[in-house]
Amino acid sequence: MVRQRQHPRCGVEVKPPVDEDDEADVWDIADGLLAGAIQYWLFSRQPCANPQCEDCLSVNTAEARLKELLKELLKLAGKHAQESEYYHSPSDANVGRA
Ligand SMILES: [Zn+2]
Repeated sequence: MVRQRQHPRCGVEVKPPVDEDDEADVWDIADGLLAGAIQYWLFSRQPCANPQCEDCLSVNTAEARLKELLKELLKLAGKHAQESEYYHSPSDANVGRA
């Protein structure tokens, strides 16, 4: 059941996009999902055992992986955000109200 709840930051009543239990904070859930995605992305980019490997050059240190991750985020975040049905909201400040 989708019902009204208070916005976690400003207290204004909002209708959440998904079902949730009474105690859940959708912002915390979203932050947790993002943290999990970053965790999995870093797991998937572990270099092989050969420190001289050319193929793993872009991910062969923690700093190199972070640089790759940030590059990917810049590329993908805008694309996925704009494709999302939640990119625009009827309560956006720049939506005209008659
Ligand atoms: Zn390698």
